[in-house]
Amino acid sequence: MNKENNLMIDIRLKNQNVFMGLALHIFHIRLIEIICWINRTFDFILLTETFRHQTHSNDLHGTKPVRAIDIRAWAYQNPIIVVRAINKKFIYDSERPWKKVAVYHQNNQKDPKANPKTGIGYHLHIQVHPNTRERMNGE
Ligand SMILES: [Zn+2]
Repeated sequence: MNKENNLMIDIRLKNQNVFMGLALHIFHIRLIEIICWINRTFDFILLTETFRHQTHSNDLHGTKPVRAIDIRAWAYQNPIIVVRAINKKFIYDSERPWKKVAVYHQNNQKDPKANPKTGIGYHLHIQVHPNTRERMNGE
């Protein structure tokens, strides 16, 4: 058995809805691998959104397989470090380098400029594409 895969995993779930979204749907393999990497690198991960019915076209939380999850940003001392580490390790799609695997959403309900598509609250949106992979040296 691969030693890395035998490590204790600490995945916390915000509520039963998040658990059901996780248990009842198929997730993209790249997303599962990245969740495991985050767990190994930052000790734990708290999921606040898994599958949901699409709230807008191209909502990756509602695709088959599911290609996005949200994790609680303020569970980490410095969420920006987590975002940078994920995007340094993984490339979303080399044909569209401006697209990122980890996106930090800091939506305030009272902010008129807040993007209603991304949900309320401070969270890290983790998304994958079939082209998502680890970066090669120097990439
Ligand atoms: Zn999201």
